Amino acid sequence: AAKARGRAHSVFFEPRQVSLARDNLVLEGQLGQAIAQEEFALLFQPQVCARDGRFVGVEALIRWNHPERGLLVPDAFIALAEQHRLIVPIGAWVLREAARQARLWHEAGLPLTVAVNLSTLQFQAPDFIASIEQLLAETALPPGWLELELTERMLMDDVPGVLARLAQLRQLGVKLSVDDFGTGYSSLSHLKELPIDKMKIDRSFVRELPQQRESAAIAGAIIELARGLGLTVVAEGVETEAQREFLLAHGCDQLQGMGIGAPMDAVALQAWQRARTSIPT
Ligand code: C2E
Ligand code: MG
Ligand code: MG
Ligand code: MG
Repeated sequence: AAKARGRAHSVFFEPRQVSLARDNLVLEGQLGQAIAQEEFALLFQPQVCARDGRFVGVEALIRWNHPERGLLVPDAFIALAEQHRLIVPIGAWVLREAARQARLWHEAGLPLTVAVNLSTLQFQAPDFIASIEQLLAETALPPGWLELELTERMLMDDVPGVLARLAQLRQLGVKLSVDDFGTGYSSLSHLKELPIDKMKIDRSFVRELPQQRESAAIAGAIIELARGLGLTVVAEGVETEAQREFLLAHGCDQLQGMGIGAPMDAVALQAWQRARTSIPT
């Protein structure tokens, strides 16, 4: 009966919903082909030391060069990829590509850390730790150059083994960072048990600095919390000089955002870096 009702129900879909569903079906099919078609690309957004402006690392951000729709940002396809588990092979591609690029930079004398965003499904896959180990071996990448960004939800989920997995990753020597900190469900008592290296202040707080009192209080408190726990703290979405000054004055370690540098491809990044080092700061 439920099945019959389900089918009958579909008759009442709005035309808009039907076309959306069809769109997603098409996109999903194309998403499955996109790795083989070499349609994905990574952009890299610089992260600099707040105190001296030194270029210390990048965050790898995926883009999909869609044959008809043009360049798509993650918001347009990551959720779909997660629904259909395509995020696992896509995530593996991102890790491989990021590691390859990190290796090239180091060979060129640029000692950058490369941060990669993880999805829950990827992190929970039974062979995830082994795949990271294999990646490090294959690329001969010193593990400390690779940083994995996890969300609060991934860390706080009561999945047995989260702590163990983090410890295993830590043991491999890769760095672990909590992305979008302040927007999730962190329990402070759990946080203190987590073997992590870094905290990223979500850009929703950074955006309203320094004027907005609540955001200033939250950003300041996150910085203090991170430092108290012995973690490196990074602000994301830094756009203005006033934000930079606030963050520096409050002891934030690193800055990332359009005010520092946009996400860009490896070629543009080298030009950005050269322009930067030729101007004394
Ligand atoms: P995120 O990890 O928080 O990444 C930061 C996002 O903020 C990026 O958007 C970046 O382009 C944007 N951003 C950087 N600076 C500024 C700024 O000054 N102002 C503003 N308004 N925005 C800024 P993007 O590239 O569209 O990525 C969005 C999200 O997609 C990421 O958020 C991350 O959660 C996810 N994502 C990106 N790449 C991957 C990936 O390879 N795998 C997975 N699983 N997720 C990814
Ligand atoms: Mg991130
Ligand atoms: Mg973030
Ligand atoms: Mg974010």
